[in-house]
Amino acid sequence: LLALDQVTVRFGERAVLDSVSLTVAEHETVCVLGPSGSGKSTLLRVVAGLQPVDGGRVTLAGVDQAGVPVHRRGVGLMFQDHQLFPQRDVGGNVSFGLRMRGVGGAERRRRTAGLLDLVGLPGSERRAVASLSGGEQQRVALARALAPEPRLLMLDEPLGQLDRGLRERLVVELRGLFGRLGTTVLAVTHDQGEAFTLADRVVVMRDGRIAQTGTPLEVWQRPADAFVARFLGFDN
Ligand code: ATP
Ligand code: MG
Repeated sequence: LLALDQVTVRFGERAVLDSVSLTVAEHETVCVLGPSGSGKSTLLRVVAGLQPVDGGRVTLAGVDQAGVPVHRRGVGLMFQDHQLFPQRDVGGNVSFGLRMRGVGGAERRRRTAGLLDLVGLPGSERRAVASLSGGEQQRVALARALAPEPRLLMLDEPLGQLDRGLRERLVVELRGLFGRLGTTVLAVTHDQGEAFTLADRVVVMRDGRIAQTGTPLEVWQRPADAFVARFLGFDN
């Protein structure tokens, strides 16, 4: 479904993405791991069309995305800092993408309620975004990203602010949901447990390059080099 071919992004002298090539197959869940600053969020922004590239190509379903605007790419992106619409209530945020797609009121309310149940915030449609805790806002952002069922769903640290119990429950539920919907997912996480539960394949990034890609088991059992081993916590 998605292919990046030698994508390079520079900020000044520095290549934040350095000739990155990556494919994501239809229905596949790929998790991107790597240290802070290694280029994970930039990678997602490139695919979404929010970050221009200095070289290389992004294709979605065989179509070169050069010049294709964000709203025409058919991708969903949940940002690391969630960025909810502050003037809309919770329900308005979650149903935003459905409204854009012309989904009718009754169906919109039904799907919004279902998604709020999924993220553990049932019945909170009328709450103001400002009244939510950080973790609750993150869950609303996740529901908002899931709502339009995009062909490619990209999640940037979707569960970063949540406590362990909630994370573990949501990871399992998301895995089931993606399976049922056949969603193709590219997700950034710094939590290896999360990556290993969610991912069909993991990509480990270092300094704007891909250090290793493989199934969770492959990467776990045979880290490609000392960096990957150290990053996974096998240094001693
Ligand atoms: P984190 O885990 O902390 O979210 P990340 O892997 O998502 O890190 P990116 O946000 O992709 O990292 O950033 C990669 C590098 O590019 C960082 O060093 C960042 O400072 C730099 N960078 C990102 N955006 C810009 C920008 N607009 N101008 C200059 N530098 C930038
Ligand atoms: Mg980031």
